[in-house]
Amino acid sequence: MRRRRHGYRNHHRAPVTTAATPRGEEVTNVRTQVDNPIIDWRKDDDGVVVLTLDDPTQEVNTVHKGFVAELTKVVARLQAEREELSGVVITSGKSTFVAGGDLNEIVGLGGEDAAAFTAHLNHIKAQLRTLETLGIPVVAAINGSALGGGLELALAAHHRLVVDAPRLQVGLPEVGLGLLPASGGIVRTVRMLGVRAALDSVLLSGRRFRPEEALKIGLVDELVGSADDLLPRAKQWIAEHPEAAQPWDRKGFAIPGGSPSGGPLFAELTFLSSTLRAKTAGAPVPEQRAILAAAVEGAQVDIDTAGLIESRYFVEIAIAPIAKNRINLTFFDLQRIKSGASRPAHAPVHRFSSVGVVGAGMMGAGIAYAAAKAGFDVVLVDTSLEAAEKGRAYSAKVAARAVDRGQRTQADADALVARITATDRIADLGGADFIIEAVFENLALKAAVFGEIDRVVGQEAVLGSNTSTLPITSLAAGVDRPQDFVGVHFFSPVDRMPLVEIIRGESTSDDTLANAFDLVLQLGKTPIVVNDSRGFFTSRVIIARLNEAVAMLGEGVPAASIEQAALQMGYPAGPLQLLDELTLTLPRDVREEARAAAEAAGESWTAHPCHAVFDRLIDELGRVGRAGGGGFYDYDEQGRRNGFWSGLAEQFPNQAPCPPLRDLSERLLFAEVLEAWAAHAAGVIESSWDANVGSLMGIGFPAWTGGVLRFLDQYDGGKAGFVARAEQLAARYGERFRPPASLVDAAGRPELSA
Ligand code: NAD
Repeated sequence: MRRRRHGYRNHHRAPVTTAATPRGEEVTNVRTQVDNPIIDWRKDDDGVVVLTLDDPTQEVNTVHKGFVAELTKVVARLQAEREELSGVVITSGKSTFVAGGDLNEIVGLGGEDAAAFTAHLNHIKAQLRTLETLGIPVVAAINGSALGGGLELALAAHHRLVVDAPRLQVGLPEVGLGLLPASGGIVRTVRMLGVRAALDSVLLSGRRFRPEEALKIGLVDELVGSADDLLPRAKQWIAEHPEAAQPWDRKGFAIPGGSPSGGPLFAELTFLSSTLRAKTAGAPVPEQRAILAAAVEGAQVDIDTAGLIESRYFVEIAIAPIAKNRINLTFFDLQRIKSGASRPAHAPVHRFSSVGVVGAGMMGAGIAYAAAKAGFDVVLVDTSLEAAEKGRAYSAKVAARAVDRGQRTQADADALVARITATDRIADLGGADFIIEAVFENLALKAAVFGEIDRVVGQEAVLGSNTSTLPITSLAAGVDRPQDFVGVHFFSPVDRMPLVEIIRGESTSDDTLANAFDLVLQLGKTPIVVNDSRGFFTSRVIIARLNEAVAMLGEGVPAASIEQAALQMGYPAGPLQLLDELTLTLPRDVREEARAAAEAAGESWTAHPCHAVFDRLIDELGRVGRAGGGGFYDYDEQGRRNGFWSGLAEQFPNQAPCPPLRDLSERLLFAEVLEAWAAHAAGVIESSWDANVGSLMGIGFPAWTGGVLRFLDQYDGGKAGFVARAEQLAARYGERFRPPASLVDAAGRPELSA
């Protein structure tokens, strides 16, 4: 089968304005100079003013400074003419209502901007307060998604009408970017829903709600069947409610559920803050704490004071690095990847329709599921029909779970599984456009399998391997067309892990690399591009963290402190727990291969203090990890973790004093960052965005950092601060922390970015 070729679209457009869209992806808009107003004013004969938000300079409406300036004028005019008006309808001329704030304005904020930005936020709030206290009814006629600043505008209306459209979403998702709502979103949801409900269901989760869900929790007031029904219904509501006012502006108003200063709500909030603590395991989540504080403090004062509190918390968070890191990753690094910045630009875009997966074990079965889910026809091969069918049954199981959760219809799930053909005949791969091999990790076996594959597939089929450790260049050397060979390294479990590391071998052609990139995007996953090297990128970096943890244990640091140091830094799991899952022999095998290769090449080999600890655990103590009955932890019969192995403290006695927790945490972080820098400096990973996204999505580098190379620049004092601290760690804990000359050099020249 020939691959269909499409012209390559050049996506490399500099983002000028970005905003959160309903599905969370970025929208790029280019502002142009035009005279049309952002907010159209139309006064009807019935005295109702219809304000239509339709920014002529953007594809979606966002709350940028120009928008606020125009809102100010419109509010002033409403106030001036209010005696002649019977009501106001706010709607949008675009398919979304308002997508949110302008992140470019936020990402550039520094400490010196704090006062001005606080004043800007308070100015927005003043406009919204004026709008809701005009003395005439205001209706938000929400025809498309209203998120963040968009919903906050609607919250200042007396009535929120929403079209019951399946893709429409409303919510305050700021927390997902390390921010908090700042245009009254906290203040008003707390007064509408109560402190606990606002925090729990809207503010701390950042959830985007479908119209009927939003109605149910009270975030909106009424649904209409179609956009055409909005205006008539809005006008009807206005006619029926000439005295409309916000509940909080009526006499005797009390926040639903009561004030947080005492009684049952106080107990509930204590519970909530301890739940927050448990959920985040003490990781840096300043935005969540700020949301909690703004809600609780704001509930004890009048609405205008509550607004000031909200602004101050926002600015404190927005000028600090964490929010910028998160925005940078989500909206800039990820966007670069999706727009193909790491993809050979001249290679034509291919749309694949069929995939062959060889090896129906854990990874092959997961890859087959991901491909069938994305609409591909899949041929899944194993050595026996039974094994292949078992791999296909995995898709049936995952799809059935999605049906149970209401995420998929039964017909949909059946169609997904029907797209997979299970077989024991390699010859059945004949029609596949792209082969992904996932047999046992063995060079000779893989070479033999590729020999067979190449005999049956078309000459245009791409040959991909999911190997986690074998060099792609060596594997490619075994086939007749190494230029068509590429590494496609999926992560386990494939159905949940979004990242795929694409590995370019020495002979991999640009077209093949581009093909792999296109396939990964078509699978709905996120590709990063890496040059062939031992451990590729992600494995190499995560192993540096795991090795450091094991070295600490060898020094006599208590295992619980090691795990805690990782969790409090925002790693999703402790390194010892991860190692147990991975099996301790795996990093040792990788190390032995690396040692053999270095020795064969006549290069020097430096032992890491973790090596002796690994050897002891495996060879003397028989502790290899969960699969082998136990490692750092004990496991019960169901395989559940059952506390640390009791022999651990005896075998690795705790030394006093334990180093400061900050040192332990930073040893884990610095080990990874230094390894990532070395890989970057050696050209294994060429772009900082691939490194950042790969570290967060593939190996759980803490989200607040914005990624492993971003960490260098956002460290206190930037790269120079990082270098100074690395020197300190080297003096205390070993030469492996000594920053390399390339980093010291880059630190002295801030114009060089990571
Ligand atoms: P697995 O043992 O679960 O599955 C391997 C499958 O390959 C088995 O079903 C086996 O029967 C089949 N197989 C063996 N020889 C075959 C042949 N000649 N033809 C067809 N099928 C054959 O292994 P896995 O964990 O799925 O790993 C597969 C590959 O993916 C390995 O290269 C591994 O390094 C890599 N990988 C694994 C992970 C992981 O977390 N397990 C992550 C990334 C990459």
